[in-house]
Amino acid sequence: MDLGIKGRNALVCAASKGLGRACAMSLAREGANVTIVARGREALEQTAADIRSATGARVTAVAADITTAEGRAAALAACPQPDILVNNAGGPPPGDFRDWNREDWIKAVDANMLTPIELIRATVDGMIGRKFGRIVNITSNSVKAPIEELGLSNAARSGLTGFVAGLARKTVRHNVTINNILPGQFATDRLKGRLAVNAKAAGQTLEQHLEARSKTIPAGRFGDPAEFGELCAYVCSAQAAFITGQNFLIDGGTYPGTY
Ligand code: NAP
Repeated sequence: MDLGIKGRNALVCAASKGLGRACAMSLAREGANVTIVARGREALEQTAADIRSATGARVTAVAADITTAEGRAAALAACPQPDILVNNAGGPPPGDFRDWNREDWIKAVDANMLTPIELIRATVDGMIGRKFGRIVNITSNSVKAPIEELGLSNAARSGLTGFVAGLARKTVRHNVTINNILPGQFATDRLKGRLAVNAKAAGQTLEQHLEARSKTIPAGRFGDPAEFGELCAYVCSAQAAFITGQNFLIDGGTYPGTY
């Protein structure tokens, strides 16, 4: 299926690795020009080169911290009129809420709620004016089912989800959709970093722990970031104009509810 986004400009945040990278790769494969953002320049430039050689797409790399005003300004200077915006940033650290102070909360809310809202604010009216826009927020399965040790993530991402639910109904009339994609467990650096702590606590090697953990997922394995990227590309497609304000779980069947 041709997704109808050839030549569209996509800004993909936090995209040198993992899920963001996979979204950029899938969008580029569909012919979009992609601007990718991450803090570490080396991995970012490598990813830009990989996407170019895999897809032939125009790729611009911006080394910046997307959670800062300066970082967002740099990203928007490189991609001033995005047709597609993929919001993403690193997730907050795990822990016990008794140990988190106001500063920890502000940091999580800044990264996982206010940064996407700021980027939506900066880009949505241009999309409305051009009568095409696709905004995807990478959130987490923790929005549907809280993860005990990730209270900062559960809370900040739920705030973003609530905000988006309202705005997404206002923009769709102009062919601008806003949706969230909720990853379950994908084999990325972030997941391995998190599970390394659990492995140590369980007296297992990381490999043993990953193997055992993957078997608890109904699919019997972790998600492949490429699967996430392909869903993102579809949600950003011309065909997806009637889909807005939705929360797409992609978790290999982990969420146990009927609805
Ligand atoms: P990852 O593999 O660790 O990749 C994170 C990417 O984001 C890297 O490119 C990183 O590059 C970039 N990044 C992090 N903070 C940034 C910032 N402040 N500004 C710009 N770029 C930044 O992580 P992932 O697994 O893809 O996770 C992506 C998001 O999905 C996270 O919020 C995570 O919590 C959430 N999530 C992931 C899973 C999963 O199973 N993987 C499940 C649920 C939710 P630099 O470090 O160089 O900036």
